[in-house]
Amino acid sequence: MSERFETEVAGTRLVLVRGDITTQDVDAVVNAANPQLTPGGGVSGAIHRAGGPELTRAAAAVRRERGPLSPGEAVITPAGNLRARRVVHTVGPIWRGGRHGEAELLARAYRSCLALAVEHGLRSIAFPSISTGVYGYPVEEAAPVALGAVRWFLREHPGALDEVRFVLFSDGDLATYRRAWEGLPEPAVPER
Ligand code: ADP
Repeated sequence: MSERFETEVAGTRLVLVRGDITTQDVDAVVNAANPQLTPGGGVSGAIHRAGGPELTRAAAAVRRERGPLSPGEAVITPAGNLRARRVVHTVGPIWRGGRHGEAELLARAYRSCLALAVEHGLRSIAFPSISTGVYGYPVEEAAPVALGAVRWFLREHPGALDEVRFVLFSDGDLATYRRAWEGLPEPAVPER
């Protein structure tokens, strides 16, 4: 099983790789945050540990300023000690069976992160598999939503980013994302 897969969408590199989000050399890494932007566990705990107190303080300041994040929203902070320059924090939906707008909220989380990155002039961004840990979203269901949302955004903003990277924590998740990419349906209605 290959550990890396690369393709291209409208002038942007799309990479699927197995690895650790905290060590990525990109302009921004995405944090699968909780609404309070506190460190917590999973990806968020790891990113805050690696980023250090500067990152945790910056996230707390944003939280004080604007209140808790709703699912699908994103904010940006400095990245402290991470190799990345910025952290984009987003809150994915909690899985409640699939009929509570989870897919729309998950897609919105990815789109919000990408829009913030472009707004801030960042050229590369790395995502973890949002919502598929503690939030319980089945990865087989999340992968096509995540990839579809990213493909849609990149087609809408050709050349706005050099690279979008999905950093999957296990071989199984990487294989699931790879299969989802191969099987991703073209939208019934053209995306313009
Ligand atoms: P959520 O609360 O949005 O479900 P989690 O942090 O619980 O987020 O998990 C999201 C995904 O990220 C899971 O698949 C988990 O295995 C994975 N993950 C955990 N730590 C890391 C890491 N350091 N780098 C990349 N992915 C990670």
